[in-house]
Amino acid sequence: MPVGINLKDIDGRFVLINKKFEEWYGKPEKGILGRLTEEIIGEPSAVIDARMKQHRAVVEQRKVVSRQEKKKRADGTVHVMEITKFPIIDVDGKAPLVGTVAVDITELKRAEEEIRKLSSVVEQSPTGMIITDTKGTIEYVNDAFTQMTGYAAKEAIGKNPRILKSGQTPSNVYERMWATIAAGKGWHGTFHNRSKNGTLFLAGATIFPIMTEDGHISHFVGTHQDITQRVAEQNLLKQAEKMESLGNLAGGIAHDFNNMLLPILALTKMTIKRLPNSSEHRERLEKVIQAAIRAKDLVGKILTFSRQEEAKQAPIDVGEVIDETLGLLRTTLPSTVTIEERRSLDGAKVFADATQIGTALMNLMTNAADAMEGRPGTLRVSLTRAEIGLDDAESPKNAKPGAYAKIRVKDTGHGMDQNTMRRIFEPFFTTKEVGKGTGLGLATVYGIVTKHGGFIDVASEIGKGTTFDIYLPVMDEQAGGSNRAGKEEILQSVD
Ligand code: ADP
Ligand code: MG
Repeated sequence: MPVGINLKDIDGRFVLINKKFEEWYGKPEKGILGRLTEEIIGEPSAVIDARMKQHRAVVEQRKVVSRQEKKKRADGTVHVMEITKFPIIDVDGKAPLVGTVAVDITELKRAEEEIRKLSSVVEQSPTGMIITDTKGTIEYVNDAFTQMTGYAAKEAIGKNPRILKSGQTPSNVYERMWATIAAGKGWHGTFHNRSKNGTLFLAGATIFPIMTEDGHISHFVGTHQDITQRVAEQNLLKQAEKMESLGNLAGGIAHDFNNMLLPILALTKMTIKRLPNSSEHRERLEKVIQAAIRAKDLVGKILTFSRQEEAKQAPIDVGEVIDETLGLLRTTLPSTVTIEERRSLDGAKVFADATQIGTALMNLMTNAADAMEGRPGTLRVSLTRAEIGLDDAESPKNAKPGAYAKIRVKDTGHGMDQNTMRRIFEPFFTTKEVGKGTGLGLATVYGIVTKHGGFIDVASEIGKGTTFDIYLPVMDEQAGGSNRAGKEEILQSVD
């Protein structure tokens, strides 16, 4: 037999042992039969006691008893043994012998330990893990899954992973995923998932089948990571890079274009001067000059958003700039638009170019007015102070911590959808009809605000309106006294 078998008398002396036991004990000089185990192998007294106790229980109560024990063999190796003792009862009901069967479970124990190790990795893993049967019924989820989705293990088990569907993942993604894993291969991709409380999140997922030894699929394993934040950050970065390269491109063209405009303007002006007053060419040439001036104006705008125009920065009161801009705007705004102004930040200074900040505000306010399209509406402008902390959940994603002057321009206009919103800062992006929009307004705002170390936050809802928040770093009294003042002096002396 591949297991150890022996018989002992009621005193615990060997009556018979099989080959396996002989192997384990080696060949002791005095032999094995007629001796106690402890006479053959050295054992601590606790082990001897445990064995004797078991032995007596078998003899006296005629029970079958088992225990597990680590045993040192004659060859020095240590093995985990499962030892079962049973009474051998003769015809007249006496139990003169005790049988022992010893099974080496060392390998089994090692495998168990291995499994325990692996399963604790799965349990503690920061990646959400899910195991389903071949039909997709959930058999296991780990803690990270529960944290990410809000579903406790007992709520998820027995259900299908489709409880996470938000309806926003294209159905062909699921189709491709099933086709891949059913073919026995691993699949990577992204799901738009919905957690138990309704929050949407982007899950980066890897799903793969577990195969049996004979090549059949027994289970599917899914690992999920919430990548919402990471993707949002990548998009911001991509957006910033796009703006940068568009700015560089447009700025380069604008410079060259400007150089071409200069001789057009100068030479046309010279020519007009030499023409007799009565000349019919005068009017035509005046038109050339007007067109060239408009072109210069456009070039100026492009240079502003491409941030290649020098800013004349000085400590300015943003409240005053808002007042001036609103003053200019009031005269052109239709009477259907009500203007509301609120201010809780008075006298605070921002180190900025007042003309440029004025231009940015004007662009935002004209857009707001355009969005209300002559229908009754309200344009709200407010100025407040915003402190942005290191890990402020409320703050915009691209915000640096610090104190800011926050200018809000809010309208009750037509709003915009996600697709429009994604592109509004691109130069020349407009949804307005030809002749009405240039698509340079927000590109300019972006250029100006970024140059001033600030950032922009937009929120919009179709049919309800749009809110633009401009954050400009505010100069604190103390900081303003030392650090900024130096810069201001230099600028003034340059002027
Ligand atoms: P333009 O005003 O010349 O179209 P902008 O760069 O100023 O160019 O704006 C780009 C686009 O952003 C607009 O065409 C419009 O679709 C959208 N937009 C900007 N501001 C608003 C707003 N307040 N409400 C709705 N849509 C807006
Ligand atoms: Mg505009």
